[in-house]
Amino acid sequence: MKPFLREKIPVALSEIPETPAYEAGYLVTKNAGWRNIRPVINKEMCVGCLQCYLYCPDGVIFKKDGKVAIDYDFCKGCGICKRICKLGAIEMEAEK
Ligand code: SF4
Ligand code: SF4
Repeated sequence: MKPFLREKIPVALSEIPETPAYEAGYLVTKNAGWRNIRPVINKEMCVGCLQCYLYCPDGVIFKKDGKVAIDYDFCKGCGICKRICKLGAIEMEAEK
């Protein structure tokens, strides 16, 4: 993903950038392996409403094939995305 630089206000869903701000790696380094749980998207249940994308504090959820995916290099495992998904399409699983 390329860093998103806001040039105009999006007026359609298709114009919303892949991530809410910058590509995570543009601003920070990869996490050092301290995450002990990770969010996993259930693609069957996800409807692509983008609520998790909007609320992820690290901007590591991105749009993919009409749904969402997670950049695990920078996800800190906070679980906010799971709390915000009303459809229960995100489960937190233990890191292996
Ligand atoms: S909030 Fe849930 S249903 Fe909406 S995009 Fe995220 S995972 Fe999918
Ligand atoms: S666990 Fe936290 S950092 Fe990781 S994708 Fe969900 S909201 Fe973002």
